[in-house]
Amino acid sequence: MIARFCSFFCLLSLLNCNQFPKPGLPSDVAYSDEPHPRNVILMIGDGMGLTQVSAGMFRNGNKLNLEEFPVIGLHKPYSGSDLITDSAAGATAFASGVKTYNGAIGVNMDTLPVKTILEEAEERGLATGMVTTSSIVHATPAAFIAHEPSRELYEAIALDFMKTEIDFFIGGGMKYFAHRKTDQRNLYVDLQKKGYTVNDYTRKGLSEINLNESKNFAYFTAEDEPLAAAKGRDYLLLASHLAVDFLHTHGGSKGFFLMIEGAQIDWGGHDNNSDYIVSEMIDFDRAIGEILKFAREDGETLVIVTADHETGGFAINPGSTMDSLIAGFTTKDHTASLIPVFAFGPGSERFNGIYENTAIYTKLRQALGFEREMER
Ligand code: MG
Ligand code: ZN
Repeated sequence: MIARFCSFFCLLSLLNCNQFPKPGLPSDVAYSDEPHPRNVILMIGDGMGLTQVSAGMFRNGNKLNLEEFPVIGLHKPYSGSDLITDSAAGATAFASGVKTYNGAIGVNMDTLPVKTILEEAEERGLATGMVTTSSIVHATPAAFIAHEPSRELYEAIALDFMKTEIDFFIGGGMKYFAHRKTDQRNLYVDLQKKGYTVNDYTRKGLSEINLNESKNFAYFTAEDEPLAAAKGRDYLLLASHLAVDFLHTHGGSKGFFLMIEGAQIDWGGHDNNSDYIVSEMIDFDRAIGEILKFAREDGETLVIVTADHETGGFAINPGSTMDSLIAGFTTKDHTASLIPVFAFGPGSERFNGIYENTAIYTKLRQALGFEREMER
């Protein structure tokens, strides 16, 4: 009797939920039968619009690992201050679910800190990590861990890394930790004191590293910004492989949250250089292939690939062939067009459709079951 009573009301609330979804907060009920992923990997191709994807695909023999994703959506990338977002506001939207002003790192329109999904994951005992082909304090990774009014505050952002127990990170920008100008601190040493294994490109190649999975891990790939892939940078695939290897062990049954960024697709766009865009796009796609391999074997990992915005107003113009693209650009800056979202694994269905960039945050939390815990 009680059971029947309950199921009646459960059914009623289910109907209610579907009839009156909260605006901007799509109901979790529609996906209640869907298995929850244990792990989430969010891959951000900075500046990766559809033309960047297309160019990379054509120049890679008309093939990308991205084609393996069964679910595809589109997000609206505008920020709280501008129709055309920058990477700081774009990453803050993914990390914290708020539209904020361009330049903001993990803060809202009033410059107040907003908790990030990486911080939430850390609090809940998941392992956390970040890998990027820019410096680790650059806008995109910064917005997942730091809370600063401006993306330019690189040394303050580095200091914010000391306030979160992030388990694993690989990227450039060693100088913001080890050779600081605003204070005399050496955060490289401070990380070691905090129990991290810290290493860098001057001491050991990433391929020579033997991971000690019982300790947190940090590795610097460059003093400042890493090289372009075309000029010899070759660590993204390996770093992505090491990250999932490490975090899978480290996170155990609780799972992990990992953000991987292909940062320099954007820089090719700013340079209006299609070869730069293509080589970075292909580099990023190789890392995507490595992550998909892991996710397929694991079966409990949700993989999302998206971008913060498009860069360059990039077009493939008439007269092009697959091997020889005639590029057009409308700007040296970002543009406002809708951005593709590719999803794979348990929880991927909710990434169908067209939604705000902030919905990526909401959907990731729902997929991980964070939302449900909050409502309890
Ligand atoms: Mg970036
Ligand atoms: Zn940019």
